[in-house]
Amino acid sequence: MANSTSANALLHRALQHVEGWEQSWGSFDPHPSLGVDPGRLDAVFDEYLERLEGNYPFHHPRYAGQMLKPPHPIALAAYAAAQRINPNNHALDGGPPTSQMEKEVVADLAAMLGLPDTALGHLTGGGTVANLEALWVARELRPAQAVAVAENAHYTHGRMGDVLDTEVVPVSADARGRMDLHSLERTLEQDDIGTVVLTAGTTGLGAVDPIHDAIPLCRAHDARVHVDAAYGGFFRILTEDAAPEIEGFPAERFRAIEKADSVAIDPHKHGLQPYGCGCILFRDPAVGRFYRHDSPYTYFTSDDLHLGEISLECSRPGAAAGALWCTLKALPLAPDDGLGSILAACVRAARTWTDAVEATDALRVVAPPETDIVAYMPTTEEKTLSAVHEASQALFDAAMNDPDAPIFTSVYRLSADALTTLHPSLTADRDEAAVLRSVLMKPEHETYAPRLVGRLAETAQSLERSAP
Ligand SMILES: *Cc1c(COP(=O)(O)O)cnc(C)c1O
Repeated sequence: MANSTSANALLHRALQHVEGWEQSWGSFDPHPSLGVDPGRLDAVFDEYLERLEGNYPFHHPRYAGQMLKPPHPIALAAYAAAQRINPNNHALDGGPPTSQMEKEVVADLAAMLGLPDTALGHLTGGGTVANLEALWVARELRPAQAVAVAENAHYTHGRMGDVLDTEVVPVSADARGRMDLHSLERTLEQDDIGTVVLTAGTTGLGAVDPIHDAIPLCRAHDARVHVDAAYGGFFRILTEDAAPEIEGFPAERFRAIEKADSVAIDPHKHGLQPYGCGCILFRDPAVGRFYRHDSPYTYFTSDDLHLGEISLECSRPGAAAGALWCTLKALPLAPDDGLGSILAACVRAARTWTDAVEATDALRVVAPPETDIVAYMPTTEEKTLSAVHEASQALFDAAMNDPDAPIFTSVYRLSADALTTLHPSLTADRDEAAVLRSVLMKPEHETYAPRLVGRLAETAQSLERSAP
């Protein structure tokens, strides 16, 4: 396992280097209260490591369930090195090197998204906080106006609307989970909308809203645009000329992110980072004025920009910035190298998975994938949503509990409207039905897809045969 060897070696090197740096400041006596009885420590660690085995194998290609995978070994080691020092990127004085690195990676992300180099941004705890900051700035700029959010958008937008006491107006989505432009136009005409939230890569189906067509509509109605690219933002690398051509990849939609007023993107989703790394970017740096504060606790000692002056959160891990900085240096944001090669493999994996499903009799695709998430369902004798629902649940359970080689997928509920629009042969005998969903966010999925689908089809067939 090349990865684990290099992770161990890098981690060792990182911790040793920081230890040497610590010692260069002179030795001192640690307080005895920090010591732990070796026997107790041993027992605790035994228990801890064993309890961690209760996780699903997020690292393995057979895990294609939710948006989960381990960080890259480089991110792991870089994080550990900075974590040992524990800088706080709230203020430059809390961690000068990692604060500088944060400014550099934020500029890299802005450039990748096509935003001007004057864009203002910072890392956050995750996508939810990044979106919260965008909606908060939206409210400060347009205090009396509502925010329009498609029904396929992340559920936290509605929740954050409550937190901010901002009215959230729902916009319908089409059967494939993308914002419906007619519904958007109606909303813009009928309601007083200050900001529209568009999604580049939905959490459910990885679908991309028609951003290129929605933005001119929003502009015509004087509405601002926030793009929630928490999941899909990194795919914008694949819109560059040097990127490989991939069928069905909505490049034009991703390219249009460059016209947004604000963008949220999660390096802890497709940027190979451990959790705790989101990012918010604003086109107009003047929105920084809303963050201004005067706290007696802060320790700003220079006139340079302190990230704590443009962030809602106070303490933030410098290690997150350090890990992302190292990762992007080692695996650059390039269309045909580094992260671009990884993302292209994930997008191709979804096409390979789709083709493999179409080649079976036991499974069928719900809708063609746009990014790297595929929805599919067992072929049932009875053409009802109840039959699809039950067969999907049964296949999900059976695949996960296969004693030889479990395959982890997830179930996703689709409305009867969406499913019968996509598959008119199905009869709606219930309001919604579960289908299967696979998130193919590891590049290894490209090569493993055919055999994983083959195994799922065999399981589906044997379930169908044993059905009463
Ligand atoms: C994951 C996700 C979020 C929430 O981000 P967290 O990092 O989990 O807080 C928001 N929007 C979209 C589209 C997402 O996929």
